[in-house]
Amino acid sequence: MNIQHNIQLQPYNSFRTKAVARLFCEPQTAEELSEIVKAYPGEKKLILGAGFNLFFTEDYDGLIIRPAMGGINILSETDSEVLLEAGAAEDWDTFVAYAVSKGFAGLENLSLIPGSVGASPVQNIGAYGTEAKDTVIRVNAVDIRTGERIIFTSEECGFSYRDSIFKRTCRYVITSVIFRLSKSFNYKEKYIDLSRELEGVPSPTLSQVREAIIRIRTRKLPDYTVLPNAGSFFKNPLLSKEEKEMLQHKLVDLPVYNAGDNMFKTSAAFLIEKAGYKGIRRGMVGTYEHHSLIIVNYGTDNGKEIADFMKEVQNGIYQQFGVMLEPEVWIF
Ligand SMILES: Cc1cc2nc3c(=O)[nH]c(=O)nc-3n(C[C@H](O)[C@H](O)[C@H](O)COP(=O)(O)OP(=O)(O)OC[C@H]3O[C@@H](n4cnc5c(N)ncnc54)[C@H](O)[C@@H]3O)c2cc1C
Repeated sequence: MNIQHNIQLQPYNSFRTKAVARLFCEPQTAEELSEIVKAYPGEKKLILGAGFNLFFTEDYDGLIIRPAMGGINILSETDSEVLLEAGAAEDWDTFVAYAVSKGFAGLENLSLIPGSVGASPVQNIGAYGTEAKDTVIRVNAVDIRTGERIIFTSEECGFSYRDSIFKRTCRYVITSVIFRLSKSFNYKEKYIDLSRELEGVPSPTLSQVREAIIRIRTRKLPDYTVLPNAGSFFKNPLLSKEEKEMLQHKLVDLPVYNAGDNMFKTSAAFLIEKAGYKGIRRGMVGTYEHHSLIIVNYGTDNGKEIADFMKEVQNGIYQQFGVMLEPEVWIF
């Protein structure tokens, strides 16, 4: 059991904010993780993946657990499908690249999402009409309170838009994830941007779809090694029918998507733009000039500056449109 003390977390979050963790560990196996959890029962704990969806505003007075279980294994396969298990610490996009190179379909639309495999079920990562929940069939985890090992079926993961039981409870450390992928692939038009990028390609292959997505994402998103960020900062808000109608009086061109149960989703990026926050900057923090939903760090190592900027955007939008944007990014 290797526990480190007073570890600087700046290299472990993509916003590059500074904070010190009193205790820090990188368990290599589920057994080691169970032992650690049992050895520190009263300690406050935080699970850290690759740090692309969180940042720190203050030192962490507790134990940071950074799962280090690696490996990609074929568990079983038939003529039509394959079950792949990937360790929590595997880099997500390397895993997607592996699946695509083997001709296993189902993950290609999630190409180039930064992060670890272990975090993929947490917020049910999604892009281009695909979500992790479409292929995750099992999640292996350790209960952070007891050290007990638990297997979750896909249903037990309670997946919904950018949400899961893991996100709602913060109670389970994911050690590996099992995906069911298909050995055949027929491109289906699901997303206008992607279809446009693939125009002129009669029946795109898995690799062509992956490459198209990589091209679009590289054009659209800021490079976090140059402009530190955590991707989309806010969730798209869900509105009741009444809220939607009130907002449509103020914004006639409001984009609205039916989210079922008489609820409607609108675009956080659209509201940020309409409120005049696209491309603005306060000191060392601002919204990205080409994508209003992304908050970028121009050079601070103080997470409080990012949190203050977030509040300014939230309050400005609330005052103008009566909608309180919720962060998708975790702030500690
Ligand atoms: C440029 C950019 C683009 C992005 N694009 C997208 C996108 O298109 N779609 C999308 O959905 N997201 C996107 N994101 C967000 C991010 O990539 C995902 O949330 C990703 O899953 C984060 O993985 P991570 O390992 O960095 O998790 P972290 O940021 O380390 O952790 C995120 C959350 O998951 C928890 N967690 C991490 N690992 C585990 C584990 N093993 N067990 C239990 N809990 C764990 C943490 O406690 C935390 O609450 C983007 C981010 C960036 C910077």
